[in-house]
Amino acid sequence: MQIKADNLTYKYMKNTPFEKEALKGFNITIPEGRFTSVIGHTGSGKSTFIQHLNGLLKPSSGTVAVGDWTIRADTKQKHLYELRRHASIVFQFPEHQLFHETVLSDVAYGPVNFGLSKLEAEKRAKEYLELAGIHPDMFDRSPFDLSGGQMRRVAIAGVLALNPKLLILDEPTAGLDPEGQVKMMELFYDWFQEKKERSIILVTHQMEDAARYSDEIVLMDKGTVKDQGRPHQVFSKAGELKAMGLSVPESVKLLSMLREQSGEDMSTAAFTLEETVDQVLEFLRKRGVSDRV
Ligand code: ADP
Ligand code: MG
Repeated sequence: MQIKADNLTYKYMKNTPFEKEALKGFNITIPEGRFTSVIGHTGSGKSTFIQHLNGLLKPSSGTVAVGDWTIRADTKQKHLYELRRHASIVFQFPEHQLFHETVLSDVAYGPVNFGLSKLEAEKRAKEYLELAGIHPDMFDRSPFDLSGGQMRRVAIAGVLALNPKLLILDEPTAGLDPEGQVKMMELFYDWFQEKKERSIILVTHQMEDAARYSDEIVLMDKGTVKDQGRPHQVFSKAGELKAMGLSVPESVKLLSMLREQSGEDMSTAAFTLEETVDQVLEFLRKRGVSDRV
């Protein structure tokens, strides 16, 4: 589903002395079928923005269009029920939202709620639990008997089992160990690639993930969108990012350092180990030392 925000403004505690304008009237279009990462300093408005994409928050002014739905300040909740079927959010620490007696019933709950029979819902739940790396032995256990990482995978299986078109992820790997982070990102990426109409919006502080998986990056700062573009475009502005309190991927840092110290006119866009090695070799070749490496 295409996303289009028009003069999107959001104020927390509107018309009170505590009013806080978290989104300051920006425009953005995000086409369907993309993997988009939203980056920005804490408090820049990322979570506020993405909660508009399935109508959890409604604009204070302006509009957000998601697929066929247009959300405004006065949009009725009942108009948004159907949208939630297609646009699902995985919040930070989704394991806090588990509440059923067994792992299986937790994951089957959403699909039943959206109209599947119990049998169909359980079939789908099992499928996504296995995909998320949860062994069938655990299906009848209480989710609270699982480890933190397993609980999170159960919660994510529950969202994937809804079969959304738009999957919205708010720092989904926060707090996981490095291996768990990679596994989880691969799970999302495989899901994304399975069907071309699927889209992902990922809010992340992990610049490596943003660079590696995204078709496009949206940079937010102080309640507005500061930049939108391919990873190499956004991460080529290391100075601007730094000024906003953000870092660039380690690979970009390394290449920027080489470029600065050597004065060599070279690209700093490399987001995988292979790309980084290629760039370094290219650098060495230019410097005439490649025979020795
Ligand atoms: P991010 O996800 O980028 O860290 P948020 O969207 O959570 O940013 O927050 C944007 C701004 O809105 C921040 O200044 C934050 O303090 C404020 N804010 C967020 N949630 C609330 C809330 N429930 N009540 C009041 N202010 C809030
Ligand atoms: Mg946030």
